[in-house]
Amino acid sequence: MIDTHAHLDMAAFDDDRAQVFDAMHHQGITSAIIPGVSVQQWQKQIQIAQQYDCYFSLGIHPWYVPEDIDATIIQLDTMLQKYRGDKRLVAVGECGLDKLHHWSDKQLTLLEQQLLLAKTYRLPVILHAVKAHQELLAILGKMKLDRSGVVHGFYGNNDIAKRYIDLGFKLGIGALILNPNATKLRQTVTNLPLEHFLIETDSPSMPPFDHPKTRNTPLILSRIVSEIAFLKKKEIVCILEQLNKNAVQLFEL
Ligand SMILES: [Zn+2]
Repeated sequence: MIDTHAHLDMAAFDDDRAQVFDAMHHQGITSAIIPGVSVQQWQKQIQIAQQYDCYFSLGIHPWYVPEDIDATIIQLDTMLQKYRGDKRLVAVGECGLDKLHHWSDKQLTLLEQQLLLAKTYRLPVILHAVKAHQELLAILGKMKLDRSGVVHGFYGNNDIAKRYIDLGFKLGIGALILNPNATKLRQTVTNLPLEHFLIETDSPSMPPFDHPKTRNTPLILSRIVSEIAFLKKKEIVCILEQLNKNAVQLFEL
């Protein structure tokens, strides 16, 4: 298993990161993608990806819109140039739109600039989208990225899912699928072909509904896989095989 979205560089893992990685390996979680969130975090993120044999992406999260967007984009361009030959660098992101967090046009500008870099460096994108699917779909439709990407932490309904899929994007499924009340998402996963989904945890955020207020870790991946198998009425090994294939294909792992 590969956790396609885990912030294992965050301070929440500083005290026991080695133990968390050990436990992951014991459970068959062979690797993770550590997404970039801000200029300040990139160095630590890359160092941890190297130390623990993980993948990483470079980008600026919409929660961390910088004062000077142009200067930050130049820094991102320089970093992508520097690491373009590194097999651990697999995407641009996470970038995106979040209407629940300091929403402004600046988020749009920051996203568009990062999508342009994804095009230039021929990398897929890891997208964060909260209450802004229409805006995001419009931008993605206009930009036509050759390697597409993933809408991580997907929570939407069938119609929204289909519109992303039509643009070639995959949908990242996390712990929300475990919640019996997440009916829209559970229907989406039940109805649409498995080839469109990735699994992720967004650790240390997004703990499962039955363990709220705890630190989330990649160790819940097996629960997510079992739940998808249950919804799809298929064997866990078949589900795992396809989900792995999806991640390997999208990120060229
Ligand atoms: Zn994230």
